[in-house]
Amino acid sequence: MNIILLGAPGAGKGTQATKISDGYGLPHISTGDIFRENIKNQTPIGVLAKSFIDKGQLVPDEVTCKIVEERIAREDCKNGYMLDGFPRTIAQAEALDKIANIDLVINIQVDFGDVMERLCGRRVCKDCGESYHVSRLNGATTCSRCGGELYQRKDDNPETVQSRLEVYSAQTEPLIAYYTKKGLLFNVVSDSTPEATYEKVSAKLDALLK
Ligand code: AMP
Repeated sequence: MNIILLGAPGAGKGTQATKISDGYGLPHISTGDIFRENIKNQTPIGVLAKSFIDKGQLVPDEVTCKIVEERIAREDCKNGYMLDGFPRTIAQAEALDKIANIDLVINIQVDFGDVMERLCGRRVCKDCGESYHVSRLNGATTCSRCGGELYQRKDDNPETVQSRLEVYSAQTEPLIAYYTKKGLLFNVVSDSTPEATYEKVSAKLDALLK
C-alpha cells in the first residue's frame, strides 16, 4: 500500500504519519525530515535546501523528486510506503505518477486560523521527530516516546509560517483537485485530538486492506 499524506503546514501530517507507520508498518518518508537531516550534516543538498526552507519556500522540484525517487527504490519500500510532505506541487505529482502507483491520498484538513498557534508552539523530538505543543508539555523538555531532546524548528516562526501558508495555497492546494480527479482523495478533518483523527484514518486504511 502506497500512501500520500497531504495537508497544510500544521495540519498534523507528521503526527498521523508516526501513528500510521507504527500501526501498519509502512516506512515514513518525510521530505522535510530528509532535508533537515541533510542540513544537519551540511551536505550540498542541505546547503541548497536551507536557503529555501528558511524563507518558507519550496525546494526546487528537480532536487526533491530525485530524493524521493532514490528513497522509494530502497528495499524497505518494496511492500509499500507513506509519503509525508511530498508531492507539494503538480510537477512533483506528475513525476511521482511515472514511478509509483498510489493507492490513497489522505488529505488532512485544518482551519488556517489554528495553524499559526499550532506551529509557533510546536516542539519536535530531535531523535524520532514526534511533535508536541508547548501548552501540553508541562515544562517537559524531552520526548515521552523515546526520551530525545525537544527543539523548536527554525521555520516555525510567524513570518515563515505565513510564507509557508501562502506557498501551500498557491502550489500545493491544487493537488486536492488533482487527486480527486483520480478518485484517490480521502478527506479527514483535524479538528479535535490526533487520536480522533487517527481513528478515522485507520478505519479507511482497514477498509482498503480488506
Ligand atoms: P515539512 O517538514 O514537511 O514542513 O517541510 C519543511 C520544509 O521543507 C518546507 O517548508 C519546504 O521548504 C521543504 N520541503 C519539504 N517537502 C518538500 C517538497 N515536497 N517540495 C519542496 N520543498 C519541500
